[in-house]
Amino acid sequence: HLPKIFVVTPTHARPVQKAELTRLKNVFLHIPALHWIIVEDANGKSELVTNFLKTSSIPHTHLFKQTPVQWKINQKDPRWIKPRGVLQRNEGISWLRENISPTEKGVVYFADDDNTYSIELFKEMRYTQKISVWPVGFVGGIMVEKPLLDEKGRVRGFNANWRPDRKFPLDMASFAVNLGLLVRSTDAFFSHRSQRGFLETDFLEKLATRDDLEPKADSCTKVFVWHTQTSDPDLNREQKLKVQGKRSNL
Ligand code: UDP
Ligand code: MN
Repeated sequence: HLPKIFVVTPTHARPVQKAELTRLKNVFLHIPALHWIIVEDANGKSELVTNFLKTSSIPHTHLFKQTPVQWKINQKDPRWIKPRGVLQRNEGISWLRENISPTEKGVVYFADDDNTYSIELFKEMRYTQKISVWPVGFVGGIMVEKPLLDEKGRVRGFNANWRPDRKFPLDMASFAVNLGLLVRSTDAFFSHRSQRGFLETDFLEKLATRDDLEPKADSCTKVFVWHTQTSDPDLNREQKLKVQGKRSNL
Protein backbone atom coordinates (compact mmCIF):
# COMPACT_ATOMS: atom_id res chain seq x y z
CA HIS A 1 0.00 0.00 0.00
CA LEU A 2 0.92 3.65 -0.40
CA PRO A 3 3.27 5.35 2.08
CA LYS A 4 1.11 7.65 4.18
CA ILE A 5 1.39 11.44 4.03
CA PHE A 6 1.12 13.06 7.46
CA VAL A 7 0.32 16.75 7.13
CA VAL A 8 0.92 18.86 10.25
CA THR A 9 -1.02 22.13 10.27
CA PRO A 10 -0.74 24.73 13.03
CA THR A 11 -3.85 26.87 13.15
CA HIS A 12 -5.15 29.76 15.23
CA ALA A 13 -8.52 31.42 15.69
CA ARG A 14 -9.33 34.50 13.58
CA PRO A 15 -12.22 35.39 11.26
CA VAL A 16 -10.72 33.65 8.19
CA GLN A 17 -9.75 30.42 9.99
CA LYS A 18 -12.56 28.24 8.69
CA ALA A 19 -12.17 29.59 5.17
CA GLU A 20 -8.43 28.77 5.24
CA LEU A 21 -9.02 25.26 6.59
CA THR A 22 -11.68 24.72 3.94
CA ARG A 23 -9.23 25.64 1.16
CA LEU A 24 -6.84 23.04 2.54
CA LYS A 25 -9.52 20.42 2.98
CA ASN A 26 -10.65 20.81 -0.62
CA VAL A 27 -7.13 19.91 -1.75
CA PHE A 28 -6.46 17.15 0.80
CA LEU A 29 -9.69 15.36 -0.18
CA HIS A 30 -8.04 14.60 -3.51
CA ILE A 31 -5.01 12.93 -1.89
CA PRO A 32 -5.11 9.22 -1.05
CA ALA A 33 -3.57 7.94 2.21
CA LEU A 34 -3.31 11.36 3.79
CA HIS A 35 -3.60 11.89 7.54
CA TRP A 36 -4.17 15.45 8.68
CA ILE A 37 -2.78 16.49 12.06
CA ILE A 38 -4.37 19.81 12.98
CA VAL A 39 -2.82 21.53 15.99
CA GLU A 40 -4.68 24.49 17.42
CA ASP A 41 -2.80 27.33 19.07
CA ALA A 42 -5.22 27.33 21.99
CA ASN A 43 -5.66 25.91 25.48
CA GLY A 44 -8.21 23.39 24.26
CA LYS A 45 -9.97 22.07 21.18
CA SER A 46 -12.32 24.68 19.78
CA GLU A 47 -15.87 23.93 18.74
CA LEU A 48 -15.20 25.39 15.30
CA VAL A 49 -12.29 23.08 14.46
CA THR A 50 -13.96 20.07 16.11
CA ASN A 51 -17.08 20.50 13.99
CA PHE A 52 -15.03 21.27 10.89
CA LEU A 53 -13.09 18.02 11.23
CA LYS A 54 -16.20 15.99 12.05
CA THR A 55 -17.69 16.83 8.67
CA SER A 56 -14.45 16.82 6.67
CA SER A 57 -14.24 13.04 5.99
CA ILE A 58 -10.44 13.23 6.09
CA PRO A 59 -8.53 10.89 8.45
CA HIS A 60 -7.24 13.24 11.11
CA THR A 61 -5.85 13.87 14.56
CA HIS A 62 -6.92 16.95 16.47
CA LEU A 63 -4.42 18.40 18.94
CA PHE A 64 -3.83 21.71 20.71
CA LYS A 65 -0.90 23.54 22.24
CA GLN A 66 -0.99 27.15 23.29
CA THR A 67 1.88 29.51 22.50
CA PRO A 68 2.89 31.36 25.70
CA VAL A 69 2.40 35.16 25.51
CA GLN A 70 6.11 35.97 25.44
CA TRP A 71 6.41 34.14 22.11
CA LYS A 72 3.34 35.68 20.49
CA ILE A 73 3.79 38.64 18.17
CA ASN A 74 1.98 41.91 18.86
CA GLN A 75 -0.55 43.11 16.29
CA LYS A 76 1.71 46.03 15.24
CA ASP A 77 4.95 44.06 15.00
CA PRO A 78 6.14 42.91 11.56
CA ARG A 79 5.32 39.23 10.93
CA TRP A 80 8.94 38.11 10.69
CA ILE A 81 9.86 39.28 14.18
CA LYS A 82 8.93 35.96 15.83
CA PRO A 83 8.22 32.59 14.24
CA ARG A 84 4.66 31.24 14.45
CA GLY A 85 3.32 27.71 14.70
CA VAL A 86 6.50 26.46 16.41
CA LEU A 87 5.05 24.63 19.42
CA GLN A 88 2.11 23.39 17.38
CA ARG A 89 4.40 21.69 14.83
CA ASN A 90 6.38 20.21 17.72
CA GLU A 91 3.17 18.87 19.22
CA GLY A 92 2.47 17.14 15.91
CA ILE A 93 6.00 15.69 15.87
CA SER A 94 5.63 14.38 19.43
CA TRP A 95 2.32 12.78 18.54
CA LEU A 96 3.96 10.98 15.60
CA ARG A 97 6.83 9.74 17.81
CA GLU A 98 4.36 8.37 20.34
CA ASN A 99 1.84 6.89 17.96
CA ILE A 100 3.62 5.75 14.82
CA SER A 101 5.75 2.65 14.58
CA PRO A 102 9.29 3.52 13.35
CA THR A 103 8.89 1.02 10.53
CA GLU A 104 5.72 2.55 9.07
CA LYS A 105 6.31 3.98 5.61
CA GLY A 106 5.43 7.59 5.13
CA VAL A 107 6.34 11.23 4.94
CA VAL A 108 5.68 14.32 7.04
CA TYR A 109 4.85 17.76 5.63
CA PHE A 110 4.36 20.97 7.61
CA ALA A 111 1.50 22.81 5.93
CA ASP A 112 0.55 26.22 7.33
CA ASP A 113 -3.14 26.98 7.06
CA ASP A 114 -2.80 30.04 4.79
CA ASN A 115 -0.54 28.76 2.00
CA THR A 116 -1.80 27.55 -1.38
CA TYR A 117 -1.18 23.87 -2.17
CA SER A 118 -1.52 22.16 -5.50
CA ILE A 119 -2.69 18.54 -5.71
CA GLU A 120 0.50 17.68 -7.64
CA LEU A 121 2.69 18.57 -4.67
CA PHE A 122 1.61 15.48 -2.75
CA LYS A 123 2.66 13.10 -5.52
CA GLU A 124 6.12 14.63 -5.34
CA MET A 125 6.60 14.07 -1.62
CA ARG A 126 5.11 10.62 -1.05
CA TYR A 127 8.25 8.53 -1.69
CA THR A 128 10.70 10.71 0.27
CA GLN A 129 13.77 8.75 1.43
CA LYS A 130 15.16 11.48 3.71
CA ILE A 131 14.26 15.06 2.76
CA SER A 132 12.44 16.10 -0.40
CA VAL A 133 12.76 19.70 -1.58
CA TRP A 134 11.03 21.87 -4.20
CA PRO A 135 10.42 25.51 -5.13
CA VAL A 136 7.99 27.76 -3.24
CA GLY A 137 6.35 30.89 -4.62
CA PHE A 138 6.50 34.26 -2.82
CA VAL A 139 9.17 33.60 -0.20
CA GLY A 140 12.12 35.72 0.88
CA GLY A 141 11.11 38.69 -1.22
CA ILE A 142 11.29 36.88 -4.57
CA MET A 143 8.79 35.21 -6.91
CA VAL A 144 10.22 31.72 -6.48
CA GLU A 145 12.71 30.50 -3.92
CA LYS A 146 14.25 27.20 -4.95
CA PRO A 147 17.13 24.77 -4.72
CA LEU A 148 19.67 24.95 -7.56
CA LEU A 149 20.86 21.68 -9.08
CA ASP A 150 24.13 20.59 -10.66
CA GLU A 151 24.29 18.73 -13.97
CA LYS A 152 23.83 15.42 -12.14
CA GLY A 153 20.59 16.67 -10.61
CA ARG A 154 21.87 17.08 -7.06
CA VAL A 155 21.29 20.16 -4.93
CA ARG A 156 24.39 22.37 -5.24
CA GLY A 157 22.89 25.54 -3.75
CA PHE A 158 19.85 27.75 -3.38
CA ASN A 159 18.69 30.95 -5.05
CA ALA A 160 17.66 32.47 -1.70
CA ASN A 161 18.50 36.16 -1.33
CA TRP A 162 18.07 36.48 2.40
CA ARG A 163 20.94 35.03 4.47
CA PRO A 164 22.08 32.60 1.75
CA ASP A 165 24.78 31.55 4.23
CA ARG A 166 22.19 29.42 6.04
CA LYS A 167 22.95 25.73 5.57
CA PHE A 168 19.38 25.07 4.39
CA PRO A 169 17.90 28.38 3.19
CA LEU A 170 14.48 26.79 2.81
CA ASP A 171 10.93 27.74 3.75
CA MET A 172 8.69 25.47 5.81
CA ALA A 173 6.57 24.77 2.71
CA SER A 174 9.53 23.67 0.60
CA PHE A 175 10.41 20.33 2.17
CA ALA A 176 9.00 17.05 3.48
CA VAL A 177 10.70 14.60 5.82
CA ASN A 178 10.66 10.82 5.75
CA LEU A 179 8.42 9.59 8.56
CA GLY A 180 10.85 7.03 9.98
CA LEU A 181 13.71 9.53 9.94
CA LEU A 182 11.64 12.11 11.81
CA VAL A 183 10.31 9.62 14.35
CA ARG A 184 13.82 8.26 15.07
CA SER A 185 15.55 11.67 15.25
CA THR A 186 14.27 12.43 18.72
CA ASP A 187 16.26 15.66 19.08
CA ALA A 188 14.73 17.23 15.98
CA PHE A 189 12.22 19.90 17.03
CA PHE A 190 11.53 23.48 16.03
CA SER A 191 12.79 26.05 18.50
CA HIS A 192 11.79 29.54 19.58
CA ARG A 193 15.46 29.94 20.46
CA SER A 194 16.52 29.75 16.81
CA GLN A 195 17.96 32.98 15.48
CA ARG A 196 15.36 34.97 13.51
CA GLY A 197 14.82 33.27 10.14
CA PHE A 198 16.74 30.15 11.14
CA LEU A 199 13.79 28.00 12.23
CA GLU A 200 13.84 25.69 9.22
CA THR A 201 17.59 25.42 8.81
CA ASP A 202 18.20 24.60 12.49
CA PHE A 203 15.55 21.87 12.28
CA LEU A 204 16.86 20.36 9.04
CA GLU A 205 20.45 20.33 10.30
CA LYS A 206 19.32 17.79 12.91
CA LEU A 207 18.00 15.51 10.18
CA ALA A 208 20.20 15.66 7.13
CA THR A 209 23.15 16.98 5.19
CA ARG A 210 22.89 18.79 1.87
CA ASP A 211 23.70 15.54 0.02
CA ASP A 212 20.56 13.95 1.48
CA LEU A 213 18.24 16.42 -0.27
CA GLU A 214 16.01 14.90 -2.95
CA PRO A 215 14.98 17.51 -5.53
CA LYS A 216 11.39 17.08 -6.75
CA ALA A 217 8.93 19.00 -8.95
CA ASP A 218 10.69 18.30 -12.24
CA SER A 219 14.21 19.04 -10.98
CA CYS A 220 12.90 22.02 -9.01
CA THR A 221 11.57 23.75 -12.12
CA LYS A 222 7.88 23.68 -11.13
CA VAL A 223 6.00 25.56 -8.43
CA PHE A 224 3.34 23.52 -6.63
CA VAL A 225 3.06 25.59 -3.44
CA TRP A 226 2.82 29.31 -2.73
CA HIS A 227 3.46 31.16 0.49
CA THR A 228 0.28 33.21 0.17
CA GLN A 229 -0.96 35.42 3.00
CA THR A 230 -4.61 36.22 3.49
CA SER A 231 -5.55 39.76 4.48
CA ASP A 232 -8.03 40.31 7.29
CA PRO A 233 -11.55 40.86 5.95
CA ASP A 234 -13.32 44.16 6.58
CA LEU A 235 -15.65 43.50 9.51
CA ASN A 236 -16.26 47.08 10.57
CA ARG A 237 -20.05 46.57 10.85
CA GLU A 238 -19.81 43.35 12.83
CA GLN A 239 -19.52 45.08 16.21
CA LYS A 240 -22.79 46.94 15.53
CA LEU A 241 -24.57 43.67 14.74
CA LYS A 242 -23.17 42.20 17.93
CA VAL A 243 -24.58 45.06 20.01
CA GLN A 244 -27.95 44.46 18.35
CA GLY A 245 -27.69 40.76 19.17
CA LYS A 246 -27.66 39.90 15.46
CA ARG A 247 -24.04 38.86 15.19
CA SER A 248 -23.59 36.08 12.70
CA ASN A 249 -21.92 32.96 14.02
CA LEU A 250 -19.77 31.10 11.52
N1 UDP B 1 -0.19 30.37 13.82
C1 UDP B 1 -0.39 29.91 15.10
N2 UDP B 1 -0.45 30.84 16.12
C2 UDP B 1 -0.31 32.18 15.92
C3 UDP B 1 -0.08 32.63 14.60
C4 UDP B 1 -0.01 31.70 13.57
O1 UDP B 1 -0.54 28.72 15.31
O2 UDP B 1 -0.38 32.95 16.88
C5 UDP B 1 -0.14 29.39 12.70
C6 UDP B 1 -0.87 29.86 11.45
O3 UDP B 1 -2.25 29.50 11.53
C7 UDP B 1 -0.10 29.16 10.35
C8 UDP B 1 1.33 29.08 10.91
O4 UDP B 1 1.21 29.23 12.33
O5 UDP B 1 -0.57 27.86 10.08
C9 UDP B 1 2.23 30.18 10.35
O6 UDP B 1 1.67 31.44 10.68
P1 UDP B 1 1.59 32.63 9.63
O7 UDP B 1 0.94 32.16 8.39
O8 UDP B 1 0.98 33.82 10.31
O9 UDP B 1 3.13 32.89 9.41
P2 UDP B 1 3.94 33.40 8.14
O10 UDP B 1 3.30 32.83 6.93
O11 UDP B 1 3.85 34.87 8.19
O12 UDP B 1 5.29 32.87 8.39
MN1 MN C 1 1.53 32.10 6.41
